[in-house]
Amino acid sequence: MQVPAPFTYERAGSVDEALSLLGRYGPEARLVAGGHSLLPMMKLRLARPEALVDINGLAELDYIRVDGDHLAIGAMTRHAAVLESPLLSEHYRIFAEAERVIADPLVRNRGTVGGSLCQADPSEDLSAVFAALRGEVVIRSTGGVRRVPMREFHVGPYETAVGDGEILVEVRVPIRTSVGSAYEKVERRAGDWSIAAAGAFVVLDGDRISDVGLGITAVGAEHFTCAEAEAALVGAQPDDEAVEAAAAICASSCNPTVDQRGPEDYKRHLVSVLVARALRRSIAVARVGSSRGVED
Ligand SMILES: Cc1cc2nc3c(=O)[nH]c(=O)nc-3n(C[C@H](O)[C@H](O)[C@H](O)COP(=O)(O)OP(=O)(O)OC[C@H]3O[C@@H](n4cnc5c(N)ncnc54)[C@H](O)[C@@H]3O)c2cc1C
Repeated sequence: MQVPAPFTYERAGSVDEALSLLGRYGPEARLVAGGHSLLPMMKLRLARPEALVDINGLAELDYIRVDGDHLAIGAMTRHAAVLESPLLSEHYRIFAEAERVIADPLVRNRGTVGGSLCQADPSEDLSAVFAALRGEVVIRSTGGVRRVPMREFHVGPYETAVGDGEILVEVRVPIRTSVGSAYEKVERRAGDWSIAAAGAFVVLDGDRISDVGLGITAVGAEHFTCAEAEAALVGAQPDDEAVEAAAAICASSCNPTVDQRGPEDYKRHLVSVLVARALRRSIAVARVGSSRGVED
């Protein structure tokens, strides 16, 4: 039986208390949210924190709401809540489309937005979603609050901008009008991690693409996106030629590894197909939604 190394357990009742506990135990302390990534790692002794600070009681970090011209999602929001949120679906269907294919109901009922982003798995789906949407994370410490663009949040595989004594408290996404979004994923079996996945949003202004975001996961895309393909799309007509050209840029610029999920050329092919599909569906939704300002 796999059991973790001994650790001290603390349950925080507020963000302030969690920060104070992190300060008390120092760099050997770890936050635990849903525990779906951290606890298996502890059982395998790949992680050996001396203290666990449980933040499951922090209702103050469990929300999805409009805050000015942004959507604000608390770090302790569970995957299931993101999947079922009418507010998120009203603005960006990419959320529900991605959540529907993340793991299974058991994991989605416990796993959190903050835990997923902070785990920083290179195949993580929400990282691609928030990168596509050009989200921003809010990080708190005893010294105050700082904001980091999602595209600067991951500093490497399993590494983020969150430092010792800090907590990711919120993720923010700009609200856009005349927008469509979509998520496409290929997995070996239902509930598995991606072989490759791609998400997009598209904003139309008349017969042109005025804004676009791409998110790509599991294939070594830099910052879970492809800025070069986005630049090629802005100002273009939303037609097959533009979509295929952008998808080809994504496929050639990502950096897939060869593993049990497939060879490199197969993964590049998937990227081009999935990016094209996500863009086409985003454009279709944006066309319908442009008269209403929100997604269909
Ligand atoms: C069987 C299985 C299948 C899965 N399939 C997928 C999949 O297809 N796609 C996908 O994207 N994900 C998948 N996941 C991961 C899942 O999405 C979990 O949500 C993810 O494991 C981490 O979330 P958590 O809340 O459980 O974090 P935890 O395991 O509690 O924490 C993960 C890490 O984040 C840190 N942390 C947690 N919260 C914060 C915070 N607020 N601030 C700072 N640091 C924090 C912890 O200290 C720890 O280092 C799968 C997981 C399992 C077990």
